Amino acid sequence: MNFSRKSQINHLEQNNEYDLLIIGGGVVGSAILELAASEGINAILLEKNDFASGASSRSTKLLHGGIRYLPQLQFGLVRESLKEQTILKDSLGGLYKPLKLLAPIYKNDGFSDLPKLFQTNLIAPIAFKIGLTFYDFLGLRKKGQKHKNITKDTTLKLFPKLKQSNLSKSFIFQDAQTDDSKLVLTLLRNATEINNAIALNYIDITDISRSNTGYDISFSDSEKQKPHKIHVNKIIAATGTHKLPGGYQEQSSSIKYSGGAHLILKGDPLCIKENGVLLPRTEDDRVMFILPWFGNTIVGTTDTEYFSGTLDRPYANEDDKQYLIRHVKKYFDVEKVKYISSWSGVRALIDSSETNSKNISRGHFFKEIDHNFIQISGGKLTGFRIIAKESLENLYNLEFKLNKLKFVDQILQLKNTINDEDVDLCINHYSAVKPTDYLLRRTRISWFNSNGSFETISNLKNHFQDDNSFNDVFQELKDEGLLR
Ligand SMILES: Cc1cc2nc3c(=O)[nH]c(=O)nc-3n(C[C@H](O)[C@H](O)[C@H](O)COP(=O)(O)OP(=O)(O)OC[C@H]3O[C@@H](n4cnc5c(N)ncnc54)[C@H](O)[C@@H]3O)c2cc1C
Repeated sequence: MNFSRKSQINHLEQNNEYDLLIIGGGVVGSAILELAASEGINAILLEKNDFASGASSRSTKLLHGGIRYLPQLQFGLVRESLKEQTILKDSLGGLYKPLKLLAPIYKNDGFSDLPKLFQTNLIAPIAFKIGLTFYDFLGLRKKGQKHKNITKDTTLKLFPKLKQSNLSKSFIFQDAQTDDSKLVLTLLRNATEINNAIALNYIDITDISRSNTGYDISFSDSEKQKPHKIHVNKIIAATGTHKLPGGYQEQSSSIKYSGGAHLILKGDPLCIKENGVLLPRTEDDRVMFILPWFGNTIVGTTDTEYFSGTLDRPYANEDDKQYLIRHVKKYFDVEKVKYISSWSGVRALIDSSETNSKNISRGHFFKEIDHNFIQISGGKLTGFRIIAKESLENLYNLEFKLNKLKFVDQILQLKNTINDEDVDLCINHYSAVKPTDYLLRRTRISWFNSNGSFETISNLKNHFQDDNSFNDVFQELKDEGLLR
């Protein structure tokens, strides 16, 4: 069965009994669907907006081992992420992109993530070096993959725009990047086209009622306004920052939000080439990244308790952008920082007693909502397979085996242009329903061109012929802060 919306709706209409309902089509929900379906579980996933429209298209795109969690003594999280990195390298094909990260050492800056005691000029580099050595050890890294010390001169040869004054030396270590929304869509294509699962975007769940044998679910197709009813035995909600639907709002996990904004700079104005740079100290005592991304440069991220816009469509406000620009200027010799676009995402963090969001654990957490009904929240992109496995093992007395993904290459070959072949592929095999699904999450056209590439949208008229599909395009680009 194709992973087109039309085929998925047809598939739905032939069956109204499922073993498992997954609510939410971010990386976690999609990985759960893929894993469940590959084990023969009859599963359906319902997403209220587009797939990956939440945090899973708004991340910093790092498949990182989480070096910054070492000083927070979250060794388990770091160990798990590093182990996953090694497995993802073998199973994600081109969706796993190795990345070298430079960590420059500046006098008086130290590294924000180190405990206060280790922040002095003399101790900070030694402490960071010990951290990197431990990171290599936890990741069982072999020679050639381990971090390296580099001198000030070599640093400036490799990164000619980095500020010279007060730079003493640097470290380079290995991490990795991905394309978050393409990862989600790849998981879903594997689940639907190989293992016959169903995944539907733009679905509004209106009611969840417990019955003797499971749950009756009422929902409507928000595109066609058509009501549906299905029966499921078990439910996993992977709704990210959102509350549960269908009368279960009050039982939702208690979540704290943290906003994270980014800028995209056109090309490589900071001369980082294919490497990333970890900025060691922000104004609010964190680290930040400058990263290469498909020929452009990402600057990010912020970590604030407040965010602008809505949970569905947060955007980077003027303060976020100025904050990011100030930090580029702090570490790079540039007079002006010109950006083409910006985005923001909201992290779901466990609602702990910590008041400062940067100190709250980034691990995932489960809540039992009802009989055979759980909610999973939080976590990192890097841990998506493990989170999926644990979620399923919470409800099933089975050991789930994590598989290598197929169909990785086609979505990576999309050209970031509007062309018939790519648009048809996205409609027929990646469930694109609206022009913005293509422009924002199947490709990155709107992010890589000024004004969200709004003027090119008329070229999509032949492909998205349903009038409804154009209704929200202008509003979505505006909400995302892409239209100036
Ligand atoms: C700014 C930022 C930077 C990050 N950077 C990194 C990074 O570099 N590396 C890393 O490993 N991790 C990173 N993360 C974390 C990572 O992005 C998230 O952990 C991950 O994407 C969460 O996936 P999810 O599926 O749980 O949530 P989401 O992607 O938010 O998905 C939840 C989905 O559920 C849907 N939904 C909600 N309610 C309903 C409903 N009633 N019915 C149907 N659907 C519903 C939503 O529309 C949404 O699509 C970052 C996160 C943010 C916000």
